Amino acid sequence: MEKTILVIVISLILSNAYSQHDQQWAPESTEWYYPVPKVVVPGSGGQPPSDAIILFDGTSLSNWRSANGGPVQWTVKDSELVVKPGAGNIVTRDFFGDCQLHLEFRSPAPEQFVGQDRGNSGIFIQSRYEVQVLDGDSNSTYVNGMVGSIYKQNAPSVNAYTQNGAWQVYDIYWKAPRFGSNDELKSPAIITVVLNGVVVQNNYVLEGNTPYVGLPKYEAHGRMPLALQDHGTRVSFRNIWIRNL
Ligand code: MG
Repeated sequence: MEKTILVIVISLILSNAYSQHDQQWAPESTEWYYPVPKVVVPGSGGQPPSDAIILFDGTSLSNWRSANGGPVQWTVKDSELVVKPGAGNIVTRDFFGDCQLHLEFRSPAPEQFVGQDRGNSGIFIQSRYEVQVLDGDSNSTYVNGMVGSIYKQNAPSVNAYTQNGAWQVYDIYWKAPRFGSNDELKSPAIITVVLNGVVVQNNYVLEGNTPYVGLPKYEAHGRMPLALQDHGTRVSFRNIWIRNL
């Protein structure tokens, strides 16, 4: 009985303490008004929002250069940017860190190519972390190298590629890795990848870069250009834009 009374008294004291605690807070004391987020006009139908940096609008390649030096050798035709096999990767003139990237691609007709040779390109975020571009239409290959993968690190959760010859839409959300003053890794890169409106990488934490041979590793870097891969097949791109975050 005494024990029950003690429990009741303690409960009353605690509940009173909590309600007093709540009463310290006026609703307004947890609301703030500054800084006011700037207005951005959203795009519709995949078009860029008003604050996006347009990397390819169907005509100009002024934001790009060849990774081999000099102007881009890839082809612009019918408002598409098409890989020129053998011409090498292309990289943006601007450097990027945290970002939101939108990009559309189309795999060439498969012809005799299979696996990694069919519609292979790649989106090298910060020039070193590859989101794979590949034909995902009945195309067997290692799953951590298929479309939607973080190359040789993480397979996509699902295959959201539609069909060969159809445009595919990537929306990528990137948090860049952070490095300390002694070049040590402070926090790894985190990526979310949406393919055709379907999340295929959900806040995946990268283990490092995405080499063809060997294991991933981090090397300290700051803002870096975005790069697109020449893997020897005529992949087309359009509507490429990016927002700094
Ligand atoms: Mg690739």
